[in-house]
Parts: sequence; C-alpha cells; structure tokens
Amino acid sequence: MANRRYSIFAVAREALRYHAGWERAWASPAPKKRYDVVVVGAGGHGLATAYYLGKVHGITNVAVIEKGWLGGGNTGRNTTIIRSNYLQDPSAAIYEKARSLYEDLSQDLNYNVMFSPRGLLMLAQSEHEIRGYKRTVYANALQGIETRWITPAEVKDLVPIINIDGPRYPVLGALYQERGGTARHDAVAWGYARACSNMGMDIIQQCEVTGVRTEAGKVVGVETTKGAIDCGKLAIVVAGHSSVLAEMSGFRLPIESMALQAWVSEPIKPTIDVVVMANLVHGYMSQSDKGELVMGGGTDGFNNYTQRGSWHHIEETTRALVETFPIVSRLKMLRQWGGIVDMTGDRSPILSKTPVEGIFVNCGWGTGGFKAIPGSGFAMAELVAKGHSPLAAEFGLHRFREGQFIDESVAAGVAH
Ligand SMILES: Cc1cc2nc3c(=O)[nH]c(=O)nc-3n(C[C@H](O)[C@H](O)[C@H](O)COP(=O)(O)OP(=O)(O)OC[C@H]3O[C@@H](n4cnc5c(N)ncnc54)[C@H](O)[C@@H]3O)c2cc1C
Repeated sequence: MANRRYSIFAVAREALRYHAGWERAWASPAPKKRYDVVVVGAGGHGLATAYYLGKVHGITNVAVIEKGWLGGGNTGRNTTIIRSNYLQDPSAAIYEKARSLYEDLSQDLNYNVMFSPRGLLMLAQSEHEIRGYKRTVYANALQGIETRWITPAEVKDLVPIINIDGPRYPVLGALYQERGGTARHDAVAWGYARACSNMGMDIIQQCEVTGVRTEAGKVVGVETTKGAIDCGKLAIVVAGHSSVLAEMSGFRLPIESMALQAWVSEPIKPTIDVVVMANLVHGYMSQSDKGELVMGGGTDGFNNYTQRGSWHHIEETTRALVETFPIVSRLKMLRQWGGIVDMTGDRSPILSKTPVEGIFVNCGWGTGGFKAIPGSGFAMAELVAKGHSPLAAEFGLHRFREGQFIDESVAAGVAH
C-alpha cells in the first residue's frame, strides 16, 4: 500500500472533507515467515537503517520489529539537539553526514520533520573550555564543518536572556554552529516509518524479540512474542537494550545502560531562538515550538533500565542553569521523563559486524544519537548490505580489542 503524497493540495482537499480521507501513515501487518533483513528496534536508527536499505541498496524484504510502539524509546524522549561539531574525524564525518541529510529530510521523506537549523552554542565558562572549543573550531575547519568561535558580546546578541557575568561561571565565549539546531523527534520516526511502509517493508509493533537463532555460527532467525521469524541478516538497533540482545546472540558488548532525563517548563512567549549548551555546569536549554523551555543535563551515575531519572539531577541542573539564565528561577516546571541510553567507554557509537555471521549492531549513541539518525541509518544500511561502510569503518567492535578508541568524552560525555 503506497500512501498518496502529502502536499498543500492534499491538505486543502482534506480540509474540505473534515480530514476524513487521510490514509494510515504505515501498515500494521502480521509477520511473514522470512525476511532478507530483520531490524530489531523501531527507533530512529532502526527505521533509518531500513529506509536506506530500501532506498540506496534496493533491499525491501525487510521487517522492523519493535517491542513497544515505534519511536517510543529514546527517539521519542530526547531533546532533539542536532549538531556535528565533534572533535575526531570519524565522528565529524558521520555526524555531518547526518546533519546534511537532515537539511532536506522533509523533502526526501515527504514528511515534515520540522528541521530547525536555528543555531547552536556551546558556552565556554572556563579557560579550559576556551582552549578546548577553539581547538574544535580548528578541527572542524579541517573537516569541512562550519563552526566558529564567538565572543561573549556575540553570545549576548544571540541570546539576550543570558547572563554573561555570572559570579561563578561567566560566559567567556562560545563554539557556534550556525546550521545546528533541532527537529521534531516523533516526526523523524514517523517519516521514516511511513517511507519504509511505502516501500513494502513490514513494521511490526508490540512484538518483542525474545531469542536469536543461530546455526553453525550464522544467524537464521529470531524468536518473538508473535512467533519465530527467519532472516538472512539481523540488525540489532535497540540502544539501551543492546547488551540484552547481544546476550541472546551469544556475545558481549562494551555497553553500559543508564538513565538520562529531560524536563520542560510551562510554555512562555518566545524567549530564546537558539540552542544553548553549558557543558561545564551540565545543563542545556532550548525553546520548543509550544513555548516550553526544554532542559536537560547528565546521565544518572549508575546503571539501570528504569526509563526514569532521579530527582537530584533535575534540581542540580536547574540550579546550575539559573546562574546563566536567571529567568529560569521564575518558571514552573511542567513535566519530566527519562530514557535509557547506551554508553561506550570512549563515548562513540558502535556500528559493527559481530562474532555471529549475519548479525550487525548499531548502538552506543549514548546521550547524543538523535542528531545522528540519518547518517547512522545510511552507514548501517551500507554495512548490512555490503559488509563494509567507509563511514562506519572506525566504529567497529575491533576498536575495543585494539585500543583504537575514538575519544569523544569531551564532545559527548554530557553534551547531546
Ligand atoms: C532525555 C534524553 C535526551 C536526549 N537528548 C538528545 C539530544 O538532544 N540530541 C541527540 O542527538 N540525542 C539525544 N539523546 C539521545 C538519543 O535519544 C538516542 O541516542 C537516540 O534516540 C537513540 O535512537 P535509537 O533508535 O538507537 O534507540 P531507541 O529510540 O531507544 O529505539 C530502540 C528501540 O528498540 C526497542 N527494543 C528494545 N529491545 C527490544 C526487543 N527485545 N525487541 C524489540 N524491540 C526492542 C525499544 O522499544 C526501542 O523502541 C537523548 C536521550 C535522552 C534519553
């Protein structure tokens, strides 16, 4: 079932008939007996993997299997920051690929993902950060990524509500990426899902993978709560549950799962039209289209699978933000939520073959994988289809054996 294209004419037509003629955005089929590729996890990364498998490699006999509802994991729980100002070359390459795909993702998917390149600032609030961010600006210049160093006065111009003269943490400048910003997280998942469904792929929700079947070191299928499904290849793309799926497959992953949370204030009039990250004090803030100030900080300091966060983070992060954004002290907080993020030791993702032939993993995006969704899906699809992807080459599991870490602990340890 291919959907009709969304367009201004379709909106006008449906407005005249009380919106009764819209089709379902994606089908909900029962699983088939066999697929060429099964993707576990209908978050952004799993859906994007399926999409580029079809679009770029012509592989459409694909199922995306999701234990809950699509986009209900971290993809629907994140604060949607998009940037590519990473320090190391392999990271910059994959995040910039993602950011550049975001630029026209709405047109590509025929679905408005509300990409908003409103500009992103990483505040320097210590001498150490000045040196670190200036170094990133130079690295980004060599990588072909447009970022620049801006002065405190320029920061104040861009963010009038900011207090640059805080007694403890004055603003000393910022790393600025003008084409960084945000997108609507649900729409990214929904847009990819609709496009996959249009290509004839099956998105199977409310279906948990409970086992992985292998024969002679090769994957042959999965057990699910809707029965056994055979597959030629298996892509495990389940973020915080990656170690659980790896255990089912008979290998281990260097991943820790931790809760990361975010919260929003009551809606207020437009006050801040850029994204500001204050990594020294572990806080960041932007304003949603509804007017809420969206805030978040660091992960919990212990492993868990609760999909909730602990109270002290809300208090500490909000307190830290108050010095730089005094208006925060006058706001009521509206709601809070958490997700389970998948952290590696070097804070870089894993896109890799595994010890089991035919099984591939995509995980380890930790606190910052929303921004990577299109690039990660593009690279993962290439890896699954061809067994190799230049964008993914350095993110393999081999790096943990060989000590070839891609250290992004400064760019990604707290920041998103
Ligand atoms: C509070 C918070 C704020 C964040 N802020 C940002 C940000 O501002 N910018 C940014 O770039 N990133 C951010 N992130 C990180 C980002 O959300 C994640 O890196 C990204 O969404 C991961 O996407 P995913 O598709 O890999 O995982 P998910 O969206 O979690 O999808 C994995 C899916 O796998 C499913 N699954 C698990 N086990 C099974 C099973 N056995 N069978 C079937 N399905 C299964 C889950 O139900 C889930 O839907 C944030 C995360 C959180 C929690």
